[in-house]
Amino acid sequence: MDMYVGACFYCGQTSGIPGQYKSQEEADKAATKSCGCYEARMDRAAEAGRNKLRGLLAYQPQAVVDTLIGVLNMIAACMMASATVQLDGRTKVKIKADSKGYVVVQKVTTTVEQEVV
Ligand SMILES: [Zn+2]
Repeated sequence: MDMYVGACFYCGQTSGIPGQYKSQEEADKAATKSCGCYEARMDRAAEAGRNKLRGLLAYQPQAVVDTLIGVLNMIAACMMASATVQLDGRTKVKIKADSKGYVVVQKVTTTVEQEVV
């Protein structure tokens, strides 16, 4: 049996028990998933953020979801600090990276109740 040892895609740190994985790719993926380096953590945060966005934007057109996921990926890659997108008259989505290396996804819906008497 082959003894693949996984290495993090970002920092190269090895982890896992040799012989646990069927391929080098599988071993590397597992090592990246459990690595504590900033890039690996940001990668996981981006994945969680993408899932969160898909849930929040369930009723939006696919093109809107794809665009905002693209924005989130850029924020996770530190190419942008934050973005706020107004979806309609009362709904906006904010995406930002916080100082601890987390990606924050926020959907703000404004409800105004007004009565003219
Ligand atoms: Zn790493």
